[in-house]
Amino acid sequence: MSTWSAMGEPLPSPLETWPRLGDELGIELWVKRDDLLPFPLPGNKVRKLDAERRSAGWAPGDLLISNGGVGSNHCRTLATWGARIGCAVHLVLHDESGETDHAASRAMLTDLGATFDVVPPDEIAATIAAAADASSRRVHVVPGGAHTPAAVGAYEAAARATLAEAAFDDVVVASGTGATQAGIVLGAQESGARVVGVSVARRAERGAAAVRECLAWFDADDARVVFDDAHVDGGYGRHGASTDAAVRRGWSHGLPLDPVYTGKAFNGLLTMVADGTVRPGSRVLFWHTGGIVNYLESTSHRS
Ligand SMILES: *Cc1c(COP(=O)(O)O)cnc(C)c1O
Repeated sequence: MSTWSAMGEPLPSPLETWPRLGDELGIELWVKRDDLLPFPLPGNKVRKLDAERRSAGWAPGDLLISNGGVGSNHCRTLATWGARIGCAVHLVLHDESGETDHAASRAMLTDLGATFDVVPPDEIAATIAAAADASSRRVHVVPGGAHTPAAVGAYEAAARATLAEAAFDDVVVASGTGATQAGIVLGAQESGARVVGVSVARRAERGAAAVRECLAWFDADDARVVFDDAHVDGGYGRHGASTDAAVRRGWSHGLPLDPVYTGKAFNGLLTMVADGTVRPGSRVLFWHTGGIVNYLESTSHRS
C-alpha cells in the first residue's frame, strides 16, 4: 500500500469547532483545515493536484510542466509532488508585481529539484510548448492553478464527506479560479448549505462565470453560485488595511490567515456577519485553503 490517497478517498484534514472566535462573531464557527493536510506547506493545491496526479497517471520519470507566479502555491505543491514521486518538474513562471521578492519560494523550488523559466505573461504558452517539445520523457502539461475536472471532483468528494459530518447554514471559501468553490458547491448540493466564494481577485461577472464553467464539466451549471467580489482589496497579490485587519484578527485567535487568499475570505465572512447576510447564530464552515507561505513572504519585511 502506498499513500493515504491510494483508495481515492478524500485526503484527511481536520474539521474543527472554533467556539471562542465564533462567540465573538455571534455564530457557530467551524473550520475545515485544508491548511493542515498531511503534506508540506499544505493548502487546497494538495487536494487538487493529488486528484490530477491520479487522474493523469503521473509516473516516475515523467515530466510535469505547469505555470504560475513565482510565489504560486500551485507550482510549489506540484514541485513537491514531483520530488516525492520521482517526476521531473519544469515551471514557467511569471514575476508577480511586487509586495515580495518570493526569495523563499524560489529557494524551495530549487531545493525540490524543479527547473523554471521566468517569462513575461505573453510568452507563457510558447515556452510551455517548447519545453514539452524538447523533452524525451512522457509529458503532462498541468493547467495553471490545477484548474481541472479532477480537481473539482476532489473538492466535491471532500465537501460531501465534510457536510455529512455536520449540517451548515453557510460555507465560506476563498475563490480564485473557482475550481475549489465549484467542487464545494457540487458536494454541498444535497445538504442545502449556501456556499459563498469570496473572490481574491476577479470581479463578480468573470469569477462567477468561471465557477459555472467548472460546474458545467459536471452538468451542474444550474447550481446556485454566490461569488462575492467585495473583498479583492486591490486585486491578486495585493491588499490593503481591511485584509490586513482580517488576517491579524485570525492570528490573534490562533487561526493562521494570509493576505492573498484566506484573509480576504475571512474579511468576507466578517462583513457578512456584520451586515446580517450570515444570520446571528448560524452554523458556518470556514473552509481554510492554506496560504501560510503567502503570509510568511508578505510579512518578511516586518520588523
Ligand atoms: C489557489 C488558492 C486558492 C484558490 O483556489 P481556486 O481553486 O483557484 O479558486 C485559495 N486559497 C489558497 C491558499 C490558494 O493557494
